[in-house]
Amino acid sequence: MQRIVILGGGFGGLYAAKALRRSPVHVTLIDRRNYHLFQPLLYQVATGSLSPGDIAGPLRSILKTSTNLHVLMDEILDIDPERKEVVLTDDRVPYDTLIVSTGTRHHYFGHEEWAANAPGLKSMEQALEVRNRIFNAFEQAEKEHDPEPRKAWLRFVIVGGGPTGVELAGALAEISRKTVREDFRNFDSADAEILLLEGQDRLLPTYPPDLSAKARHALERLGVKVMVETFLKDMSDRCAVIDFGDGPMDIPAHTILWGAGVKASHLGEVLQTNFGAALDNVGRVQVQPDLTIAGHPEVFVIGDLAISPNHVSGVAQVAIQGGQYVAKTIRGRPKGKALRPFRYRDKGNIAVIGRNSAVAQIGKLHLAGWPAWFIWAVVHIAYLIGFDNKLVVMVHWAWSYLTFNRSARLIYLDRGGASPGPPAQ
Ligand SMILES: Cc1cc2nc3c(=O)[nH]c(=O)nc-3n(C[C@H](O)[C@H](O)[C@H](O)COP(=O)(O)OP(=O)(O)OC[C@H]3O[C@@H](n4cnc5c(N)ncnc54)[C@H](O)[C@@H]3O)c2cc1C
Repeated sequence: MQRIVILGGGFGGLYAAKALRRSPVHVTLIDRRNYHLFQPLLYQVATGSLSPGDIAGPLRSILKTSTNLHVLMDEILDIDPERKEVVLTDDRVPYDTLIVSTGTRHHYFGHEEWAANAPGLKSMEQALEVRNRIFNAFEQAEKEHDPEPRKAWLRFVIVGGGPTGVELAGALAEISRKTVREDFRNFDSADAEILLLEGQDRLLPTYPPDLSAKARHALERLGVKVMVETFLKDMSDRCAVIDFGDGPMDIPAHTILWGAGVKASHLGEVLQTNFGAALDNVGRVQVQPDLTIAGHPEVFVIGDLAISPNHVSGVAQVAIQGGQYVAKTIRGRPKGKALRPFRYRDKGNIAVIGRNSAVAQIGKLHLAGWPAWFIWAVVHIAYLIGFDNKLVVMVHWAWSYLTFNRSARLIYLDRGGASPGPPAQ
């Protein structure tokens, strides 16, 4: 029986595995985590609306009815093309066909040391780290008696005006203006300053300009200071150095959050070195129209790790549709079926700003405000994996909607300090 090995249990890997459920092949799915993570809702964990278990599901449980499938939790280190084996920490897994969907990680544009001061939002560990830092900042401000140091605790700098930065800024504004407004005695949390920095001349640069303008307006109404054409030059644990054209300027702030850039998982380099795959400037793999790499019909690359002139990268739907397409190709090959090239069906993009507030592009339709927010909520519930998660998230959202409460705003300490330390990549 043909051995299919899927690397990564994110959107691409999971949907490929599901689509191969009844096929006469043996599938092994490998991920360093034992769960599938619904990344689009990570910011809700980071801002205390949802708990980790609400947006993740154990891979074994999601795939338990796939009797032709075997799940392994391990770190993928290398791929050996001669022996057709995937190299894990202390094991090797043979394959006939490989589906690589290991996604991307954060990119600090050559300043990897910034990762310790400015956590991003790609993993559950990072979301919890961001949550610790946000709620710890309010706690420190409560203990601070001097106004200037207190301001530095109540100033939040978010780097990157894409969907993640916009979501974080909107949620932080709601936390400070509503959620914790009555919780502290020594300051008014509504005085918290939220700065959203974007290098380009508008927020959400991949969206149409009218929606960028509406998103900016909605954030400014919530009290966020939007700074476009502004670059982060340097940072420490108490200061961000920014430049908006007039030279560097120090902004005292303890909480800096990163939503600015991504680079490919290290499997991109592995595919370049071992299979001669071509990479783009952030290490993503250039694929053929059928999502294989040139000269290697046995290796498919899908999701955020893949790039081609025919499809975009960095959205869950591309990974999902890529996984389903590859499964269909694998099923069709023994019958000699020639498949059409992969064509991404764009179902639209939605960025959420806050309660009743989002922007959406669905085909030629541009929506803002409540209708976009409603579609966002329905779509996210629909794509969440697992009935329990859908139900719990619906109940949490309904409760937060009525009360503005965010019940998951706990700070976890593990070293006697304020935070468990630098986030895992
Ligand atoms: C904060 C955030 C918000 C987002 N919001 C949206 C949104 O609203 N709408 C939208 O369409 N998209 C959104 N996205 C993008 C979307 O989540 C991605 O496009 C999608 O997850 C890509 O799927 P993938 O399978 O390529 O990679 P991933 O989902 O990232 O999965 C990669 C998997 O590979 C595993 N892995 C990686 N390297 C290794 C290794 N060496 N060993 C073992 N395992 C490994 C990881 O653990 C992970 O499970 C968002 C992403 C983030 C981070």
